[in-house]
Amino acid sequence: MDEFELVARYFDHPQAGRGQVTLGIGDDGAVLAHTPGTESVVVTDTLVCGTHFHKEQPAASIGHRALAVNLSDIAAMGASAEWATLNLTLPSLDEYWVEQFAAALLALAGRYDVALVGGDTTRGPLSVTMTVGGRVSKGAALRRNGAQPGDGIYVSGFLGGAAAALAQGNACSEDALLEALWYPQPRLALGSALVGVAHSAIDISDGLLSDLGHVLQASAKLGADIDATRIPLYPQAERDLGHRRALELALGGGDDYELCFTVPMARRGSISVLEEKLSLALTCIGEVTSSGVCHVRQNGRILTELVPGYRHAWSG
Ligand code: ADP
Ligand code: MG
Repeated sequence: MDEFELVARYFDHPQAGRGQVTLGIGDDGAVLAHTPGTESVVVTDTLVCGTHFHKEQPAASIGHRALAVNLSDIAAMGASAEWATLNLTLPSLDEYWVEQFAAALLALAGRYDVALVGGDTTRGPLSVTMTVGGRVSKGAALRRNGAQPGDGIYVSGFLGGAAAALAQGNACSEDALLEALWYPQPRLALGSALVGVAHSAIDISDGLLSDLGHVLQASAKLGADIDATRIPLYPQAERDLGHRRALELALGGGDDYELCFTVPMARRGSISVLEEKLSLALTCIGEVTSSGVCHVRQNGRILTELVPGYRHAWSG
């Protein structure tokens, strides 16, 4: 089987997103229609075997993740996703692997009406790069730099699950934690609903404190007061690793792909409405301050104190 047969068999399934796509896979380039009054949002992410995933983990989880992490960025911009490209580097042609990988990727694409419009297939060390295009009303994209003192700081879902699964390695037997690590759910409905409600948003990929730090740093070097007791932890992580470690992983672990966003006091009511409507936990964990320092408190005691943007750990 050559590259063309592989693409035709596993990736050229034009079931989703056809509304925007004039021409998809098969020509030298894709042709996309544009919608007046909107702007394009483009994101891209690479997953390298051994760095971002293990070679033994299910191929389906890698296909899902490659698209999910990009959709998470689209969600954090308040946009809806439309199209994607896939650059796939394979060490050999393992058809079973490609079939599982492609099925999971296309299943997630179908769920959000995203069309796979092209890509490239090459031989080499296993790595996956995807680029995703989305759309948002002109001027409406959610940015990192809009937070203001007094905003409530919210997170969606639960934090630290993926990191708890990683920390336990092969010993992890909790389905909820493995699910969080292998099949992160992009919060697209939440992102779109936050347009006109949130002052700022980011998706949590490197860990809550690091990503919230990006928001505070971009928003005129603000600070934050976080109440550690309000951070939504996975009960399974607390059970396996203890409260203290579960909290540490929620604050710094990463790979959550939940949204962190800030909302002005006057609009906080609409977040509880949204929580009901989306059946998704949306928890206020603290407040933006003008102090320039991010404090995490537990029962009145300061657990962590850091200056956003001061530490820049290389995370790949
Ligand atoms: P070219 O040589 O013109 O770059 P290719 O032969 O690489 O084109 O690809 C042929 C078609 O298949 C193009 O439409 C390309 O976008 C698509 N394609 C190649 N690899 C993939 C892939 N992994 N996923 C989706 N589409 C792909
Ligand atoms: Mg090519």
